[in-house]
Amino acid sequence: MKIGFIGLGNMGSPMAANLVAAGHAVTGFDLAAPAPEGVTMAASAAEAATGQDVVITMLPNGAILKSVAAEVIPAMAKGAVLLDCSTVEVDAAREVAGQCEAAGLGFLDAPVSGGVGGAAAGTLTFMVGGSDAAFATAKPLFDIMGQKAVHCGPAGNGQAAKICNNMILGVTMIATCEAFALADKLGLARDKMFDVVSTSSGYSWTMNAYCPAPGVGPQSPADNGYKPGFAAELMLKDLRLSQAAAEAADADTPMGQAAAALYEQFVEREDGKGMDFSAMLPRFEKRHREL
Ligand code: NAD
Repeated sequence: MKIGFIGLGNMGSPMAANLVAAGHAVTGFDLAAPAPEGVTMAASAAEAATGQDVVITMLPNGAILKSVAAEVIPAMAKGAVLLDCSTVEVDAAREVAGQCEAAGLGFLDAPVSGGVGGAAAGTLTFMVGGSDAAFATAKPLFDIMGQKAVHCGPAGNGQAAKICNNMILGVTMIATCEAFALADKLGLARDKMFDVVSTSSGYSWTMNAYCPAPGVGPQSPADNGYKPGFAAELMLKDLRLSQAAAEAADADTPMGQAAAALYEQFVEREDGKGMDFSAMLPRFEKRHREL
């Protein structure tokens, strides 16, 4: 396939490299990042999008996606598919989907889980919104860049799945960390806490697979000085998206709201920036009860 790839940062670069390694012709564009091996760089986003079967975007946020979409949609060939893998607002994805439809193009929102490691290994999970026809076109590319692609329904539903998943993740990480910090103060050894909870009803991915306590459970960023991993500021971004969506949909999400406020405090007013999102545990360790 002929592929345009716009946004070749931490995630986009290894994703594009995997497409090249699988034999696809990839033309890239980025404002700053260097060319991944085997990718031909274009002088603009519009140039990278011209004449391609699929144009992939992997950009920081919805505002940038909308400005790039405005540039590439007029350049794309009729019937081509714009495949956005960024994490953005549900509404931004639906707006761009409408513009694509009006221009005779397909659109998929396909945010990912799996992080930089999954992007490099080609083991991402894609959560996909859009038409059956566009999904069928992109499926071979999902198979190269990832291990699983779930078609979640019409445009925007991929983003909906992503932010609901990450709202659960943020809330659960905080719950796991505050429980460890309480256990410390009650004199319960962390390895005993892990042994019990990981096999009891409090178990979760954050406890069992990504344990925030160093030296306990499988290897995780906690064992590497809380170097990300999944950075606290990216968790904050996703929690804010969940709250923007909850606001727009009139959904009551008190735990998601509390998690967003806590990560905001941690990242913007404490020392959480640049730390893994599991560094909530040393944060709680240092604190006392507030009345
Ligand atoms: P990044 O900042 O490393 O990469 C984004 C790239 O987009 C940068 O190279 C930047 O120069 C480029 N860019 C910005 N504006 C542009 C424009 N107008 N035209 C062309 N290029 C432009 O970010 P990342 O970590 O690769 O994340 C990309 C997306 O993936 C984000 O939406 C993020 O939320 C999501 N995501 C990231 C992770 C992760 O672990 N990093 C995991 C899942 C999802």
